[in-house]
This record gives sequence, structure tokens and C-alpha cells, in this order.
Amino acid sequence: MKKVQISDDCIGCGVCEGLCDYLFKINSATGISEPLKNNLTDSEEIKMAEEASSSCPVGAINIIDVPEGQEDESLKAA
Ligand code: SF4
Repeated sequence: MKKVQISDDCIGCGVCEGLCDYLFKINSATGISEPLKNNLTDSEEIKMAEEASSSCPVGAINIIDVPEGQEDESLKAA
């Protein structure tokens, strides 16, 4: 299982949202990206998240391994 984290380095360029708008959305209030879904288990979603991470111009997207049983329940699928 993987988890998406977006750091304060985000400049709100919209590249991640443009690549996969079901995983990332620019928050209109803060102007920075936020993950729409966490606890990624689907291999296609993980692939897209990793692609967004490698495409982010400031390296603000981190894809983290989450050990079994430590899932983040704070974000559910949109
Ligand atoms: S690609 Fe990176 S800098 Fe651009 S909005 Fe997404 S997280 Fe922010």
C-alpha cells in the first residue's frame, strides 16, 4: 500500500492535477495541490501517482510505503 504526501514546496502549477485529476486537486483556497485519495492499493493508481511525482517540477509529491495495518483513514476515495 502507498500513501501520497504533498510537501509545502508545492507551487500550485497544476501538473499533477492535469495528469490525474482523480488523485490530485489544486485547493482553490490555498493554491496548492492536495491528494484526493490515500492508501493507494490499485497498481494503476500507484503508477499514475508515481508519474505525477516524477513530473512535479519541484519534487513536492512523495509516494510513501504504508505498512499493513497503518492505513490513513483521514482521506477516502473522492
Ligand atoms: S505538480 Fe507539484 S508543484 Fe505542481 S501542483 Fe502538483 S504538487 Fe504542486
